[in-house]
Amino acid sequence: MRTCTKAGKLYDTVYDHDTPREACGLFGVYAPGEDVARLTYFGLFALQHRGQESAGIAVSDGARIRAYKDLGLVTRVFTEPVLQSLQGYIAVGHTRYSTTGSSTLRNVQPITCPTEHGNIAVAHNGNLVNAHVLRAQLEAIGEQFETTNDSEVIVRLIARALDEGADIVSAIRQMMRQVEGAYSLAILTPTQLIGVRDPFGVRPLCLGKLGDAWVLASETCALPPIGAEYVRDVMPGEIVVIDERGLHSYEGLPSEREALCMFELIYFARPDSHLYGRLLYEVRRRMGQILAREHPADADLVIPVPDSGIPAAVGYATESGIPYGDGLIKNRYAPRTFIQPDQRLREQSVRLKLTPLREVIAGKRLVVVDDSIVRGTTTRQIVRLLFEAGAREVHMRITAPPIRFPCHYGIDMATQRELVAAHHTVEDVRQQIGATSLGYLSIEGLLEAAGQPRNRFCLACFNGEYPIPIPDDVELVKEIFEQPQSSLSVRADVPLTADV
Ligand code: SF4
Repeated sequence: MRTCTKAGKLYDTVYDHDTPREACGLFGVYAPGEDVARLTYFGLFALQHRGQESAGIAVSDGARIRAYKDLGLVTRVFTEPVLQSLQGYIAVGHTRYSTTGSSTLRNVQPITCPTEHGNIAVAHNGNLVNAHVLRAQLEAIGEQFETTNDSEVIVRLIARALDEGADIVSAIRQMMRQVEGAYSLAILTPTQLIGVRDPFGVRPLCLGKLGDAWVLASETCALPPIGAEYVRDVMPGEIVVIDERGLHSYEGLPSEREALCMFELIYFARPDSHLYGRLLYEVRRRMGQILAREHPADADLVIPVPDSGIPAAVGYATESGIPYGDGLIKNRYAPRTFIQPDQRLREQSVRLKLTPLREVIAGKRLVVVDDSIVRGTTTRQIVRLLFEAGAREVHMRITAPPIRFPCHYGIDMATQRELVAAHHTVEDVRQQIGATSLGYLSIEGLLEAAGQPRNRFCLACFNGEYPIPIPDDVELVKEIFEQPQSSLSVRADVPLTADV
């Protein structure tokens, strides 16, 4: 039996859950002579916003791959002794928010796996839509899965192809021909760092240079903190292999069209990252400007819902001529994932994160700019908070169109049943959240702000047009591969350190 990773202690985690949840963050570095584990640590730290459930780093010294991973934030998982134990010259790292498979230690990435022709470690950002089919096929021929995430399907397909004698590029190509869905990958072999992007390029992945060293990262914001410079994006369908001979590019699968996730531009990616060559702070500021044209308001003050609403609120204020101000203060230590408060606190849980500045907003007609409405519960609490603090009017302005369809490509939003805009008109939603008025940015406005044509984006959660077909034979829920807890092998409560 192939042991790709090891079971770990199970943790219970509960979340405050009314915003879209990030995918995951990937980082990789090929840098002989450098402390690659430390570089990866700082890269993952810059990508922490993409996933706060767990973190892992795998390092190769040219012969052996070592991995360390645990639940928690990057700064909690990696201590100085741990980083010092990860010696080598190639590394891949991962920060996780789970979209398939629960938040347990056994699901933490990178997934390490022995093969007949060398060991591999794989970090995945995205979500497969046919993992259930492939997993059943692999189980039927004897593969025994040890995680409940879709990423292990990718690892086992590559490992099987390597076992059968394929070289690494051919093995990845074989995997790409079988999997469907969204995947950006950072793969480590004993002597290579490899980047892969699905043919639609749903999740971002870029290449950077640090002197003679090469870097892979989910977002460009991970490059400056380690002194690296952006080189280019890994292209949809491309495999890049970095080894002692430098960087080599291969076609994995032909790309018929791009479908970068529009929510990366709206919310997920950091505002100091670039996508399609544009700074996202500027793209979001333009979203606010266009929103002001599409949904003007007669108001005294424009305030953001911090932090994600700030650039768009600046844009709205500039375009409308209404003064900009801070009306809500965010507790900077409030995590995006949150222990669920008791029933009484849950109904007002936004108060744990946001405090209104009564002296600023009392008696004012407010324009309040936020990035999205998912279930509507958080927005309703924010509106109530502002009225209780004395606001005379609250005009909600949202820099995304109504979310009417679920995401199957790596963003955990909600089921369609839970999406408030899926079953209600804009006026119904306005009444539910209690706002004076409500305006959403149009898809056309989004595209204008992005400065790119429609066919470069996935817009499925707004218009239901999924660029990668979704199977209708199974509900793609996060727990699709969960086993009864009693069947899991539970290890000691130490973080997983694995030699493979
Ligand atoms: S469905 Fe929405 S959140 Fe999911 S990839 Fe497409 S644009 Fe992004």
